[in-house]
Amino acid sequence: MESYTANYRRQLPTDLMKIVRETTEFALINRYFKKLTNSREDVVLGIGDDAALLEVPDDMSLAVSMDTLVSGIHFFEQVAPESLGHKALAVNLSDLAAMGADPAWVTLSLTLPEVDETWVYEFCRGFAGLANQYGVQLIGGDTTRGPLSISVQVHGFVPQHLAMRRGGARVGDDIYVTGTLGDAAFALKQLKQSKSPSALAPLERLERPQPRVEAGLALRHLAHSAIDLSDGLLADLGHILSLSGVGATLQLETIPLSAEVASAMGLHRDWSLIVAGGDDYELCVTLPASDREEVAEIASGLGLFITRIGQIEKQQGLRCRDSNGDHWSPAHLGCDHFSS
Ligand code: ADP
Ligand code: MG
Repeated sequence: MESYTANYRRQLPTDLMKIVRETTEFALINRYFKKLTNSREDVVLGIGDDAALLEVPDDMSLAVSMDTLVSGIHFFEQVAPESLGHKALAVNLSDLAAMGADPAWVTLSLTLPEVDETWVYEFCRGFAGLANQYGVQLIGGDTTRGPLSISVQVHGFVPQHLAMRRGGARVGDDIYVTGTLGDAAFALKQLKQSKSPSALAPLERLERPQPRVEAGLALRHLAHSAIDLSDGLLADLGHILSLSGVGATLQLETIPLSAEVASAMGLHRDWSLIVAGGDDYELCVTLPASDREEVAEIASGLGLFITRIGQIEKQQGLRCRDSNGDHWSPAHLGCDHFSS
């Protein structure tokens, strides 16, 4: 039989490791997360207890959304941690924008293979920069060890009757997108071909997307339906169509492109990359044709393209037409993590 001491000795390193690990976990929380973002008055109790205590305004619905970024799937392991901190929050704020919600609080679950304080510092810098831009307070989270992955949950407020749902599109609605499409997919394609990106703007769109929060807040008064574009226009608009029980036709040549993507593609537009590439984090909104002038005013007020790209129709399905009016269909629809 093994002696008690031998058994004890064998266990010691693991137990000590655990203590060290726990100390580091709390040190990390205190050093980096506790005061990372500016305080809000509606946070009664933030980081440091078993749960946060929060006050939702009486006349508002609480909009809640969560997204996970996994190393090797959603980002390259070598990506700058500052960009990753920004993007982890940005993709979540994009979901709130698509509901027309005003962001308020965020929780952060970090799984780290090791404690690299420089990495954590830089990650926090990117995260806090965007959080403070929108007055979002970090109110809790979890910190564990394992393969690098980041889960973020955001909370925002929206008057119930103004929330933009996916299922509200009506026959005759115009279809709009904000910003330009295809930049992130274009940058990703260049990175995968291990070409250094020829233009920096598309790479910036891939690594540091800007959530369209202001556009969501402005458009919620007009929109019948909305979604944010994370998996590609065709796949995401497809969700609006199926939930609304309608179809649509898109005019491909009206889809707004950045100068960089337009010039890199020349006359032979790679429509698959533009409408199925993903990672755009723009909004796609449907609203009545009678509101075109108001949309133009919102767009010029925000200094953001909000471009009409098609129309909702009774005939089910999604049809794309090129500049000759010819039918075009993609090789694949967009990103789906479980498709074969
Ligand atoms: P518990 O063991 O009760 O789950 P934790 O030790 O996980 O508590 O967390 C202590 C406090 O620190 C909690 O308020 C929690 O929300 C917060 N926290 C932990 N990790 C993070 C993080 N990555 N970001 C923000 N807050 C965090
Ligand atoms: Mg915990």
